Amino acid sequence: MKFQITCIPGDGIGPEIVTEAKKVLDRVADVYGHEFLYTDVLMGGCSIDACGEPLTEEAIETCKKADAVLMGSIGGNTSTSPWYQLPPQKRPEAGLLKLRKSLNLFANLRPAYLYQELAAACPLKEAVGAAGFDMLIMRELTGGLYFGARSTVTENGIRKATDTLTYDETEIRRIAIKGFEIARKRKKKVTSVDKANVLDSSRLWRAVVNEVAKDYPDVTLEHMLVDNCAMQLVKDPAQFDVVLTENMFGDILSDEASMITGSIGMLSSASLNDTKFGLYEPSHGSAPDIAGKNIANPIATILSAAMMLRYSFDLDKEASAIEDAVQKALHDGYRSVDIYSDGMKKVSCSEMGDVIAQNIER
Ligand code: NAD
Repeated sequence: MKFQITCIPGDGIGPEIVTEAKKVLDRVADVYGHEFLYTDVLMGGCSIDACGEPLTEEAIETCKKADAVLMGSIGGNTSTSPWYQLPPQKRPEAGLLKLRKSLNLFANLRPAYLYQELAAACPLKEAVGAAGFDMLIMRELTGGLYFGARSTVTENGIRKATDTLTYDETEIRRIAIKGFEIARKRKKKVTSVDKANVLDSSRLWRAVVNEVAKDYPDVTLEHMLVDNCAMQLVKDPAQFDVVLTENMFGDILSDEASMITGSIGMLSSASLNDTKFGLYEPSHGSAPDIAGKNIANPIATILSAAMMLRYSFDLDKEASAIEDAVQKALHDGYRSVDIYSDGMKKVSCSEMGDVIAQNIER
């Protein structure tokens, strides 16, 4: 099959890690008989330098025309880069916010998987690490507290600030459907996280998730209060498959889930709209401190490419082939500097890409 992929290499280590992801995708194309066609566009600091703005309308259009977007990372050193002397709407990150909005990306997916080869980096008790975990945090990205009306006023000499948390049932239903659909591709369990003992928005969330669940009798649904979920993530992360939650809870829980894997260079992510289209990117930033040295870990981006195959192209076998190839590279002892430990084989960014690409098989 033939797919159009718009690539956003971005800034810092972005171009290095996207090159490796393309290398692996090209190998998948050879082995499985597909064609991936790439068009690169600028976003972030490189776009500010070249075009005077972090994202041009032309770049947005190129993204919209593609089957999916694969991104590296954007931004520079926030203390020293001249990009951060600009007004907020002209800075690199404004490009990403604009792109997410233009593409209506309302569902954010962040897998947290503990590779047994890297279990020593897991900050949890040894027994918890040994049990392993493989979950996906599914966060609503365009509603809730971060997008509600807000104000700060002074009344009778007292300063008062207000934020509002609003969800309507259509916003909840569309993310719940995504959550159940994705659970079907995994271990068929959804844990919906809310604060239904206190918040009206959570009570509606729970009611709508229950309605959607009726269409997915093969998927197990449980509800969990967010405070309990925060505890369970460190006590027994193996219990989770898809964790479905609203924007602010998801923001916090997805960082917690990332932390317990212990390795930032391994964490992929996807943001989806209500079609098959998605934006795929590593969870980490542009790491300006190591940019241009060919030492970045490309695995998060390579795993993001695997998510793209699974969720946008429905190429499940090919996605698994990438994940298995990463697993094999780790099993064989290959490590980039960020995950290196004594006795392992230290490799550069491009060498890690080579090893993973060679490991792709049918
Ligand atoms: P960062 O994630 O870029 O780096 C944090 C630390 O982790 C650094 O020491 C870095 O060297 C290391 N690191 C990150 N990714 C790595 C990888 N793949 N391999 C090896 N080491 C890796 O976070 P930061 O330093 O806070 O941010 C740097 C820039 O990235 C900022 O401009 C920030 O705004 C931007 N940023 C962009 C995104 C995005 O594009 N979605 C996300 C987060 C941060």
